[in-house]
Amino acid sequence: MAPVDPSSDATVVETDAVVIGAGPVGLWQVFQCGLLGLRCHVVDVLPEVGGQCIELYADKLLYDIPGLPPTCGRDFAAQLQQQVQPFEPVFHLGCQVTALTRQADGRFDLSTSGCSQVLRCRHVFIAAGVGAFLPRKLTLAGLDRYAPASVTYHQLPTDGVSGRHVVIVGGEDAALQMAVDLASGSDGRSDNDRPASVTLLHRRDQFSSDDGILLARFDLLRRSGLLQVCIGQPVEPVESDGPGGPVLAGLRIAPPEGDEFTLPLDRLIVCLGLSPRLGPIADWGLVMERKQLTVDTARFETSVPGIHAVGDVVTYPGKRKLIACGFHEAILAAFAAAERDRGGPVPLEYTTSSKTLQGRLGVRDSVTNAS
Ligand SMILES: Cc1cc2nc3c(=O)[nH]c(=O)nc-3n(C[C@H](O)[C@H](O)[C@H](O)COP(=O)(O)OP(=O)(O)OC[C@H]3O[C@@H](n4cnc5c(N)ncnc54)[C@H](O)[C@@H]3O)c2cc1C
Repeated sequence: MAPVDPSSDATVVETDAVVIGAGPVGLWQVFQCGLLGLRCHVVDVLPEVGGQCIELYADKLLYDIPGLPPTCGRDFAAQLQQQVQPFEPVFHLGCQVTALTRQADGRFDLSTSGCSQVLRCRHVFIAAGVGAFLPRKLTLAGLDRYAPASVTYHQLPTDGVSGRHVVIVGGEDAALQMAVDLASGSDGRSDNDRPASVTLLHRRDQFSSDDGILLARFDLLRRSGLLQVCIGQPVEPVESDGPGGPVLAGLRIAPPEGDEFTLPLDRLIVCLGLSPRLGPIADWGLVMERKQLTVDTARFETSVPGIHAVGDVVTYPGKRKLIACGFHEAILAAFAAAERDRGGPVPLEYTTSSKTLQGRLGVRDSVTNAS
């Protein structure tokens, strides 16, 4: 496990548990912890909750969630988020957990990229699924040296785009949307703040989107000349001398047919989609099998006591990567954590009848009765 840098001025925030991953199983983990009185902080590298449900099938229907009519990934994630509200979890979205350290008193410190706080807790629940969804890189030697001023991933460059020649790389919805927003000014920027030109660079003149309205807007802007399209494969960055040193001035492009050419630009936005990477979790010294964490099936604990793992990130005999299976795992992991705190068994209570659980859920009658 990588140590937290003691010289850093990060604030330490104490909580009972940290859940890594706000996918469906991570959210259900928060709910189960809440029922057992454990307060949670939740960290996810994505800007919104839902994990694969949002990233991979937001508009497709799930048919096999017990008791739910067919529900699309987006609505299911929203319902789970609503369900955890009574427990007031603290979400750290857009942050990747990078380091995990065990303190002398047995607690864990987790630090993240994107959040200056160090989260200190007694229990860790890794619900990292297939890994952190991170932007796919454009693999061109030397390109990263121009980031983030001139090159960014899925967001506008830090130096802005006003009066600049902007090139967006990609052929999926995110790239098309970024191109349409910038070319049409529908992102709300003023006329003075508009780019000089907007070009979408894609390897072929075909775009993979099911969004008819987006495609129609894209075609309209393209036909009216407000949006250019360049077809080809980028092969190397082209630089020129700037006042403070070399700057990105273009990309060498290999078209499907014909000779290479230079596409001039001064701002490059790479929108090639997101791909999951387990990343730092694989370096924490936890026992793994084929890139998944091994757990015992009674407590869903990893090889390190106090660190539980649930959902798609785990493997055990008979494991199925289904949401309902992950939900079962989260229940047992929450009980195991509560038992460790208590030093003995935690009695099973039902939400239908337990005033304690209903009180934690904020059910009005039970609060009245308890007071
Ligand atoms: C196309 C498709 C359709 C599916 N349909 C069904 C279905 O019909 N029924 C069903 O039961 N299952 C279905 N599944 C499977 C289901 O989506 C998964 O089992 C479920 O999403 C697993 O949930 P999870 O919370 O474990 O992981 P995920 O949903 O993968 O969420 C993990 C989260 O952890 C975050 N994360 C990872 N590492 C870090 C880190 N270091 N720091 C911060 N954040 C991190 C990720 O960004 C992600 O948001 C489907 C899967 C796919 C791909």
